[in-house]
Amino acid sequence: MNENKSIFLCAISNIESGTCNEDCKFCTQSVKYKADIQRYKRKDIEQIVKEAKIARENGANGFCLVTAGKGLDDKRLAFVCEAARAVKKENLGLILIACNGTASVAQIQELKEAGVDAYNHNLETAQDFYAEIVTTHTWEERYQTCLNVNEVGLRLVCGGIFGLGETQEQRVSMLESIASLNPMNVPLNFFHPNEALPLVENSVTREESFELITLARKMVPNAMKIMVAGGRELMFGEEQYKIFEKGANAFVIGDYLTTAGKSPKEDIEELKRLGFKIKREID
Ligand code: SF4
Repeated sequence: MNENKSIFLCAISNIESGTCNEDCKFCTQSVKYKADIQRYKRKDIEQIVKEAKIARENGANGFCLVTAGKGLDDKRLAFVCEAARAVKKENLGLILIACNGTASVAQIQELKEAGVDAYNHNLETAQDFYAEIVTTHTWEERYQTCLNVNEVGLRLVCGGIFGLGETQEQRVSMLESIASLNPMNVPLNFFHPNEALPLVENSVTREESFELITLARKMVPNAMKIMVAGGRELMFGEEQYKIFEKGANAFVIGDYLTTAGKSPKEDIEELKRLGFKIKREID
């Protein structure tokens, strides 16, 4: 039944972790909430390249360089470019994605020149709910960064997170905003509660989450990928591969930014058992 369905796998490398001064209530990387996570400034370039090779061996077709922090400054930009060049040099056949927060047209252009293929910047939630979740920067800044990505001509990866206490109307509003940006890939995250965070529980149910995947597929029809990212295991449990029946065609393998994921081997075996094909080529 699933034989013709190709699934895209994406791996994340947290190249700078837990050092962010912003106050997004869902994020353990904020220094304000003192969550028990690893915090470091720069991952070794060699280690990043090693992770990219492992990701490719595991069948990933995307590899994402993620930094903590509101956006790019000169030092961080130079570091991401160095990492990008090092990974690109290996010719692994991966789509290289950067996810480094707010970025100007000039900064995104520089990433492109260093070999970055796509930029991930999520809108996170609805415009009219954002101020309840984040007070240190605005939703409009996020939207502008996505416009900058499109202006430079990098592929845009833009999604959000559900379960922060938003209404159904606000979920629809976020998806409308995402659709207006015409992204290539829409990562959908499902809030993973952590006792250190101001938000203590997830406000979306499993059934609603399945419906939201279907809704995202319908509302952003031109996106090449609807990707289930953070919160997959926790939200969908033993039903997690049903996301593909609901409209998703991509997920994140391995660990997330600050939470452990399933082993890639386990995921790949299960996908094969269910008859899915793993999409390795870059389109
Ligand atoms: S979501 Fe991004 S900007 Fe917000 S606290 Fe986390 S790392 Fe910082």
